[in-house]
Amino acid sequence: MSFENLSLIEPIQKALKTEGYTTPTPIQQKAIPIVLKQRDLLGCAQTGTGKTAAFAIPMLQLLHQYKKEAPQDTSLKALILTPTRELAIQIGESFAAYGRHTGLRHTVIFGGVKQRAQTDALQQKPDILVATPGRLLDLMNQGFINLQRIRIFVLDEADRMLDMGFIHDVKKVLTKLPPKRQTLFFSATMPPEIVKLSDSILSNPEKVEV
Ligand code: AMP
Repeated sequence: MSFENLSLIEPIQKALKTEGYTTPTPIQQKAIPIVLKQRDLLGCAQTGTGKTAAFAIPMLQLLHQYKKEAPQDTSLKALILTPTRELAIQIGESFAAYGRHTGLRHTVIFGGVKQRAQTDALQQKPDILVATPGRLLDLMNQGFINLQRIRIFVLDEADRMLDMGFIHDVKKVLTKLPPKRQTLFFSATMPPEIVKLSDSILSNPEKVEV
């Protein structure tokens, strides 16, 4: 199995070659076709499995397609919620790398730093937002972010969100997302509270375990 078997568009294939990726990891082999079909996904996977590329690559492809269908629409189209600043930065770097030839733009926001650089970046109309929950809610409450046109929502490391006490914030964000959307849910473990959360936000998901 190689990336060439996954029906990826040329701008993404080219970026993967630059990255030196030849073979998709197991989670990428399973998740990429599901996400490209616009299905919801429940992914049971740890960091280090290639999980980030498993969602970022097909998301970039769908968003590239949506942009072609509505080039004038500059609203925010994708949101990735992740528990820590380090993960947010890493995910942002992945979107930059795999998306370098797609023309799609992303912004990363997290707490613990001044908000000015982040609000300036949001004013540039990114397609994709990578965020930690607290700073996201802060900037939403100040009117810097509107989630009404989100087409793809990713909840990354859901079990860690729970451990770090972010579940209440995550649920608040969920109330601001449009009900008609694609949702990708990732967790390394599936305690009952996470199963309940996944049931409540996913619609007829395909499941992938690695
Ligand atoms: P992740 O599990 O998303 O944190 O990814 C772990 C590491 O594997 C990252 O440094 C990625 O750049 C790298 N990686 C992901 N997918 C592939 C692949 N298909 N081939 C080679 N390296 C990869």
